[in-house]
Amino acid sequence: MITRSELSVQTINDFGCWQEQLAGAVTSPELLLSMLQLSTKLLPPALKACQEFPLRVPHAYINRMELGNPNDPLLRQVLPIGEECEHIEGFGLDPLAEQSQNPTDGVIHKYHGRLLLIVGGSCAVNCRFCFRRHFPYQDNRLDRDSWNSAMEYIRSDTSIKEVILSGGDPLASNDRRLEKIVTELNHISHVETLRIHTRLPVVIPDRVTDDLINWFAKKRLQPVMVIHANHANEIDESVREATFRLKQAGVTLLNQAVLLKGINDSPSALIQLGDALFKAGVLPYYLHLLDPVHGAAHFDVPEAKAKSLIKEVMDSSPGYLVPKLVREIPGRPGKTWIS
Ligand code: SF4
Repeated sequence: MITRSELSVQTINDFGCWQEQLAGAVTSPELLLSMLQLSTKLLPPALKACQEFPLRVPHAYINRMELGNPNDPLLRQVLPIGEECEHIEGFGLDPLAEQSQNPTDGVIHKYHGRLLLIVGGSCAVNCRFCFRRHFPYQDNRLDRDSWNSAMEYIRSDTSIKEVILSGGDPLASNDRRLEKIVTELNHISHVETLRIHTRLPVVIPDRVTDDLINWFAKKRLQPVMVIHANHANEIDESVREATFRLKQAGVTLLNQAVLLKGINDSPSALIQLGDALFKAGVLPYYLHLLDPVHGAAHFDVPEAKAKSLIKEVMDSSPGYLVPKLVREIPGRPGKTWIS
């Protein structure tokens, strides 16, 4: 293995503040391949696949990848490849039919008792398997126009106990905007829990600032954060520092992962992920079967294999480190548990 100190193209020691890291994410496949000392043969398919869904990956995340390894489990999650352009039957643009569960712009109401607010469309990292990789964020996000109707929708439905900030990645928005949303929700008495689904504490751990903890954890609402890591190599000391700070502030921390062929589809990878999460104070929550989105079919793991993998994890790990294996089926009032 080539060591990080041998990296000659760009030294990655000082990443800057989180906003600088977000703005400075690598978007050029040529640069990414060069930084990781990978073959230029990977470039033409990467450029082609980028036309459908651009590359985007922050330096702090690249820094955890192995130089010269095209199969690195973190690289495989972000590097566009030729298979993404193949049209595979059953894999579509809106795999969860979310665009029909959208009562007002910026709101997705799929499940009883909870709803999602689409805070924004941008992410710190573009994950190649993302089920929202074709989502029309530009037509459907919480902006100045949709804000009042979204809040009115939540106020008028007293069954909504939990609001989930989603996206895109909600933590890609600035704290002022997020605090405004949370302050408004704080005044709606039937909302009890605020959940954030985010990959930022994993890909840019510096996003967990004092300001973030202040607006998130210091309100009336019970704070829950669901991070997203798929492989143990994603969780390094910087991620642990971020999660410990959240934990100290009283935030319940959970992880959702996607079962991805060639990345975490082995018992050892899943067990190591559970162990790494636990050391970071995070419990495994969901292991999702891949949603059938166009461009991601090469990551698909058959259900039978998934069931046998989870059984092996159960045989080797304490129950609290075994995630629920689930599939999302459009129209169902919750995730479908695959037992
Ligand atoms: S961070 Fe989440 S929403 Fe953004 S691309 Fe990755 S999986 Fe999709």
